[in-house]
Amino acid sequence: MAIRKKLTILGSGSAGLTAAIYAARANLEPLVIQGLQAGGQLTITTDVENFPGFTDGIQGPQLMEQMQKQAERFGTQFIYDNADSVDLSKRPFIVRTSHEEIITDTLIVCTGASAKLLGIESETKLMGHGVSACATCDGFFFKDKEVFVVGGGDTALEEAVFLTRFAKQVTVVHRRDAFRASAIMVNRAKQNSKVKFILDSVIEEIEDISKGEVTGVKLRNIKTNQITQHKIDGIFIAIGHKPNTDLFQGQLELTETGYIVTQGVKTSVPGVFAAGDVQDELYRQAITAAGSGCAAALEAQWLLESEESHAPADKKKVEKQVVG
Ligand SMILES: Cc1cc2nc3c(=O)[nH]c(=O)nc-3n(C[C@H](O)[C@H](O)[C@H](O)COP(=O)(O)OP(=O)(O)OC[C@H]3O[C@@H](n4cnc5c(N)ncnc54)[C@H](O)[C@@H]3O)c2cc1C
Repeated sequence: MAIRKKLTILGSGSAGLTAAIYAARANLEPLVIQGLQAGGQLTITTDVENFPGFTDGIQGPQLMEQMQKQAERFGTQFIYDNADSVDLSKRPFIVRTSHEEIITDTLIVCTGASAKLLGIESETKLMGHGVSACATCDGFFFKDKEVFVVGGGDTALEEAVFLTRFAKQVTVVHRRDAFRASAIMVNRAKQNSKVKFILDSVIEEIEDISKGEVTGVKLRNIKTNQITQHKIDGIFIAIGHKPNTDLFQGQLELTETGYIVTQGVKTSVPGVFAAGDVQDELYRQAITAAGSGCAAALEAQWLLESEESHAPADKKKVEKQVVG
């Protein structure tokens, strides 16, 4: 049997859980479809030192566990599954998971934008222990250290230059001999004496899983196949992000890069809101995601309230009887 909700939230990162806290406290009894990464991207990192309220920082998974408990405390329901399909062509909207069909008056999409990774075992094992996908978040931990940045686009070179504020040496590793990045960014990086480049090379392995921290890296030159070993303290993977929006192709307006187009937190479909990284190509931080999650919950609440107050008298009577 279908589940009937006033508000459904897709995603359980900082945007989704903040939306849930606000909506639950407004008595909307929200349902959160958590997705397969319950807690979102902060669950793959260790220290989070820039989320306000934690003087000594907090571990990413712990922060997300606390957010979930806070949302549960006010009556949020959770389903641990992905949304497989949505029908946003008319209200109420339909969301389908592998086991459930949810009929919902409003929807908040918080499915995030996943950092693209290299896909090697050592990268996953050492994520948060010297491997990072976010220079803004983790640069501070690499004061006077040697780090590599992997990538050849604007983001990689921006991150490399940013990291020179902390690290004593930043080496950009790129698999081609030319950069995709704009000429201005390439020049800025080249003019920075702390930035070095290794081109035509890919990461073979990040060391050292047995020590539980990054101590070095093995590179392979793709033209000569020569393997070289380098001692480093950290590595930033900066090869882009993929917004999780496949589900909404043809249903919501998306940017060229696949992010949801929003005005504030309103999408192209009235009643569907989007919050967090899925609609934010620029900031992509936990606190900005939380902020927009709050805004989306308030917008959904106001929409539902305005519709209830404009409902025909007969409908209100029927609803009252059903509730009573
Ligand atoms: C390694 C790393 C370290 C970071 N460190 C910091 C830091 O120190 N400070 C900071 O502010 N930011 C940090 N960030 C960035 C931060 O994690 C993100 O900005 C934040 O998590 C965005 O929150 P979100 O809710 O928008 O999306 P996400 O956290 O990405 O959550 C997306 C959610 O959507 C769900 N989902 C996806 N597809 C579906 C679907 N089809 N159906 C249902 N659910 C779905 C997923 O399961 C997940 O729960 C870091 C990021 C990374 C990768």
